[in-house]
Amino acid sequence: TVQTVKEPQVLTTTELNFSGNKKRIGILGGTFNPPHLGHLIIAEQVADQLGLEKVFFMPDDNPPHVDHKESIAAAEREKMVALSIAGNPLFRIEECELRRGGVSYTYDSIKYLQECHPDYEIYFIIGGDMVAYLPKWHKVEQLVKMVHFVGVARHGYPRQSPYPIMWIDIPLIEISSTLIRQKLRQHCSIKYLVPDAVEKYIKERGLYNG
Ligand code: ATP
Repeated sequence: TVQTVKEPQVLTTTELNFSGNKKRIGILGGTFNPPHLGHLIIAEQVADQLGLEKVFFMPDDNPPHVDHKESIAAAEREKMVALSIAGNPLFRIEECELRRGGVSYTYDSIKYLQECHPDYEIYFIIGGDMVAYLPKWHKVEQLVKMVHFVGVARHGYPRQSPYPIMWIDIPLIEISSTLIRQKLRQHCSIKYLVPDAVEKYIKERGLYNG
């Protein structure tokens, strides 16, 4: 069985006990507005530490908790995710939320993914900021029984949750999409904060007033 944590606690990989020999996929859900190196680093590190066979980057269509002032077309976010993951055979894009449209509930996506991949255990990767939001997630009580939540610490958020979270140790990365949008508004450099191809795409399309 997977060790679950109710109290704030740090687990190292060696302390994690995994169930059976089922193959594992990771899901990194997000708005990716825009994708940045933080996303790539956490996906790679979690995949490596947990032996994930693939990580699916799953852009949402209309996230329930995000304010939409700075949103751009879903197709632009989707394109930037595709550019970000190109060249890494471990990563792929999962477009079910974009196809479904409307408000993207993770519960619905996981139900769908379980049907598509019945032989896999699903590891859902979330940053500490999202962990703090978990109690507000649609059908979270069911969701925690369907996936293993993998937490990645984020500056300013405690490693604390009423739900079982498997915390993975990764150096804190203080890159966020908010930071990237802010830098672009101020015409500051985003080089090395996002993949080169994403920087180029943003500049070519004049996204975020960059
Ligand atoms: P924004 O600043 O617009 O809120 P974001 O940088 O948090 O965006 P999202 O697309 O919302 O990016 O993030 C997708 C997932 O990746 C979330 O679970 C988020 O917590 C996690 N994540 C993003 N950046 C980091 C980071 N630097 N460290 C740890 N987790 C991160």
